[in-house]
Amino acid sequence: MTEATPGPDLLRQEVRKFTPYTAGLSIDAIRDAHSLDQVYKLASNENPLGVPPLALKAMQRAASSAFRYPRSGNPDLVNAIAAKHNVPAKCIVPGNGSDEIIDLLIRVLCRPGQDAVLTCRPCFSMYELQAKLCGAELRQVPLLPDFTFDWEGLLAQAQQNVKLIFLTSPDNPSGYAPPASQLADFARALPPSCILAIDEAYMDFAQPQEAYSLLPRLEEFPNVAVMRTFSKMYGLAGLRLGFGVCPPWLADHLWRVRLPFSVNLIAEQAGVAALQDDAFIAQTLKTVTDGRTLLTNELQALGFEVLPSLANFILMRPKHQFGMDAANIHQQLLCRGVIIRPMAGYGMPDRLRVSIGNEQENRALLQALRDIHTASNAKP
Ligand SMILES: *Cc1c(COP(=O)(O)O)cnc(C)c1O
Repeated sequence: MTEATPGPDLLRQEVRKFTPYTAGLSIDAIRDAHSLDQVYKLASNENPLGVPPLALKAMQRAASSAFRYPRSGNPDLVNAIAAKHNVPAKCIVPGNGSDEIIDLLIRVLCRPGQDAVLTCRPCFSMYELQAKLCGAELRQVPLLPDFTFDWEGLLAQAQQNVKLIFLTSPDNPSGYAPPASQLADFARALPPSCILAIDEAYMDFAQPQEAYSLLPRLEEFPNVAVMRTFSKMYGLAGLRLGFGVCPPWLADHLWRVRLPFSVNLIAEQAGVAALQDDAFIAQTLKTVTDGRTLLTNELQALGFEVLPSLANFILMRPKHQFGMDAANIHQQLLCRGVIIRPMAGYGMPDRLRVSIGNEQENRALLQALRDIHTASNAKP
């Protein structure tokens, strides 16, 4: 006799077949697995200088208020963002990472089984994961061979049931950012049936901003939303804090459906302080810019093809002369305590993504690669 008990059959189809996000490997896991003293993580594009000092102080101050619920509407943070970016407060929605904003946009706009999300391929996996979870169709337009966007292809697809388009600028994993004028032309050419969401997680690293970002002139574009994060330039990835800037009607409805306290009290105060820490931001920008130049030059000399990047990471491909394929290089680096990001999950098994680290981290990566190169060429 079979006894009926609740089990996975109860789950929604989209949930049962869901494959979760693959995060970068953790320092602790690699240290234990390879019995290493020192492990360097250049896999998740975190800030190489750590937490902004002003944010650290703000967190310590806020800690004693942690028994309180955050204030509804996160007014301190919303006002700080509005002032920093010169956008109306009513357009701003903070989230538990910009991942929450991605998820919210899909859920408020796309009807399961009917509407579609359009992205490039390859792209940041979160758009695809949340679209599938929501039961929205996913349509993708391949990037052009030089990793630029296929505007015509995107426009041709942005019809019928496409409700939401995600573009990443600067793009992950290539580091490419289209000129703002191209984004503006694309936004203007779109039918009124869809929203263009521009994920600017790395825009803080692209200078000058006006050349690449539509955020300074967002009021010209009633169909555009922009997402930013505190996880990269602002050094607060572990707190989970990001925000969307969108037309007021959309922001209003994101607020209505957002979990009431998804941005916690400590994160809110840390975010406010991080936005004011100009010295830390300037230092980060210099570290990343200098490190990007150093790594690009040295990696090219070692036998890698390196794409130009406007972000705090670079995408590279070992050439034949390096004598080892990308998967092997990734493994060998792990054994030497350097974590970088393999790109097989993005459909590019021959490439690797490296976050720009601080000077010590960059040197450690280059030394480990030299050691690997020497060891592999010494083989009979
Ligand atoms: C890192 C990253 C984010 C940031 O996500 P958070 O949830 O804010 O940490 C968003 N989009 C892209 C493309 C990223 O690489």
